Amino acid sequence: MQYFRYKNENAITCILCRHYCTLKENSHGICGINFNENQTLVNKTYNHPSAVHIDPIEKKPLYHFLPASSSLSLGTVGCNFRCPFCQNYSISQTSVIDENVVYTPQDIVSLALQNNCKSISYTYNEPTIWYPYAKDIGMLAKEHGLKNVFVSNGYESPETIEDMNSWVDAINVDLKSFSKEYYKKKLKADLDGILDSLELFAKSDIWLEITTLLIPGDNDSDEEIRAMAEFVSQKLGLNIPWHFSAFHPDYKMNNTPATSLELLDRAKSIAQEYGIKYIYLGNVNVDTNTYCNKCGSTLIQRDYFNTKVLSIKDNECTKCQNKIDGVFE
Ligand code: SF4
Repeated sequence: MQYFRYKNENAITCILCRHYCTLKENSHGICGINFNENQTLVNKTYNHPSAVHIDPIEKKPLYHFLPASSSLSLGTVGCNFRCPFCQNYSISQTSVIDENVVYTPQDIVSLALQNNCKSISYTYNEPTIWYPYAKDIGMLAKEHGLKNVFVSNGYESPETIEDMNSWVDAINVDLKSFSKEYYKKKLKADLDGILDSLELFAKSDIWLEITTLLIPGDNDSDEEIRAMAEFVSQKLGLNIPWHFSAFHPDYKMNNTPATSLELLDRAKSIAQEYGIKYIYLGNVNVDTNTYCNKCGSTLIQRDYFNTKVLSIKDNECTKCQNKIDGVFE
């Protein structure tokens, strides 16, 4: 994939995300890290992650993709969104790159292999904006039998999504609201673009899970949760795990209260009414096990990030042979 198009003699168009920024010579786009140098797209964070950790895959969150495995996780700086509640704003809302930190794609893959990781996760900030670096790591990872995971706001361009099909195995996409105005004014993005991406991912071979951070007063009305549930159930399918996660005061929203358990439970009940099979609550201390929706057996037991797969074999419940959706070993 060519990551940009020529616009005219002095400008190129970055096609990594749906902003399609025009980059004049020596200028960068909204994310602050893709730059036009001599009419070529230069990704300034290439080889320079801001964070590299080994995480449980459940932390992404992905609950139906290689449960109980470790994922070498990395992020860079910058973002194509401006969420006022960002929990990683110190890296996402800066474009200051520490060039003394150098991890080549080979370094990242070696680290993953040395630490018995099953996958590499492109996470912490929006990976779409550093797609050239992520893909080079990912292609090498694939050669070594590792899987590739995106944690994303869903603003990939259709061109990028098509390219992801060749190397990305799983993705968790945030559905942050169902209000066009909220996406536009607060997050600086377009809801229709996110919904289109979600449909493209749902139709692809990439395993999809969704996360909605429920923020009191912002996206917590029954009406809005119902609108999201209707979209998820009708356009994406009933088998896509949906994580409702609790907000904690942060960044520019320090005066907004944390999400109550009552609100999370209400969202879960609404999603269940629409027939969505796998609904999980996050950032709170509640039962996060996966149960067979036919016989009720505990399939995957989770105690914080200590996970045990108890009764799944060949994507079936070992007790009643009910089909379980996901990617399991
Ligand atoms: S990744 Fe998105 S925000 Fe960044 S320059 Fe490209 S189109 Fe613009």
